Amino acid sequence: MTEQSNEVQANLQREFAALQKRTLLCYQCSKCSSVCPAFRIGEYNPRSFILLAVNNGIEKASMDKTIWLCKNCHACTICPMAIDIPGMVLLARIGALKNNNPPPASKTGHRRIFNLAQKIQAASPVPPVANKWPLNHQKFTEKGPVALYTGLMPVWDNLMYNYDLNFITGLRAILEALNLIGVEPAIPAGFKDSGHDTYYGGDEDTFIALARYNRDLVEKIGIQTLIVVNPEDYHAIKNLYPKYLGEFPAQVIFWTDFLVEKGFVERLRLQSYLDVELQVAYHDPCKLGRVSGIYDSPRKILESIPGVKIVKFRSEKEMAPCCGVTAFIGCDDGSLYLRHERLKEARDLGVDVLVTTCPSCVSHYTCALASMQAPAGKQPKELKVSDLATFLGTRLFHLDKK
Ligand code: SF4
Ligand code: SF4
Repeated sequence: MTEQSNEVQANLQREFAALQKRTLLCYQCSKCSSVCPAFRIGEYNPRSFILLAVNNGIEKASMDKTIWLCKNCHACTICPMAIDIPGMVLLARIGALKNNNPPPASKTGHRRIFNLAQKIQAASPVPPVANKWPLNHQKFTEKGPVALYTGLMPVWDNLMYNYDLNFITGLRAILEALNLIGVEPAIPAGFKDSGHDTYYGGDEDTFIALARYNRDLVEKIGIQTLIVVNPEDYHAIKNLYPKYLGEFPAQVIFWTDFLVEKGFVERLRLQSYLDVELQVAYHDPCKLGRVSGIYDSPRKILESIPGVKIVKFRSEKEMAPCCGVTAFIGCDDGSLYLRHERLKEARDLGVDVLVTTCPSCVSHYTCALASMQAPAGKQPKELKVSDLATFLGTRLFHLDKK
């Protein structure tokens, strides 16, 4: 182990110890439970979980089956004592795998296929080829200081083949937008998945293997700015990698922030695309909103698309509800109820398209939409769910027709 990794390891241990120590401040006020979506629909109660961890220690808490019901949505950051409940849940999950308390086996959650894909990628000596999707006219390079990180997005449509998600059009739209503002990013072939889902599934070893691989590749290629297309990957690379591996060698930026900072919205105003008006509501994903604090740039991009009228959800930004599933764990009737609630709200508001920026949210809401009943006696307007990048690609650039 190098001197730096020894130091990082010591910092991590200190952080985990401080995290546990802070739980001693819990005075059982139940504020966390009052906002917790998992408590609303199931047996998990964050207040009780913290009490268990305080009284019996994290080892004992890691044996509790209900830890797999937490959504890691961070709504409980309202805790008046600033106790990091999702952080404690993650610690418990890491311990749970070692204590033979794995995530519940479930046919729903697509048998956690992304987790499996990440495990395969972590173990494989053959790097994935992730840059075969750009269209002929689109410009990119293999190496360069500004790179696009796509994680599993190029294969997502295939993994979720039973839904028409069209994330490939979204990737192409991001590249089209970058080219429009004069950026020809590097799209290196060899990146592996960020490991977000394996980490939230408690598999720390697979996560570290993926993190180390991706970090080393960034260093080897000399990337200075890494543009990330998925909020969960963004959170993993920006916030979790440095915890385990020390300072990340490049600036990590979410694609909407990059485009807005580089003047994409102003550039768009020079274009004239006419289309019918659509009522669109933006849903803040937990990992991009509450966890990463990115609320404005996706809205700015959405607002700048001609023919789009933004309709506001009653609860948005910090108060936005979770889609009910994390790392493809906890996809059950309760989480379906949460998604139906959000979709009903969109329908009641007369929304045509619920747009969000997280492929997981898009997948889970699309799945829930298919099972939603129309209100009795009414023929509601058709509601669709779309990723912002895919929406940009179809509505603005018409890439789905190329
Ligand atoms: S909100 Fe904080 S202090 Fe209150 S019960 Fe939950 S963890 Fe304890
Ligand atoms: S992260 Fe979300 S689901 Fe988990 S305890 Fe906090 S509020 Fe509940």
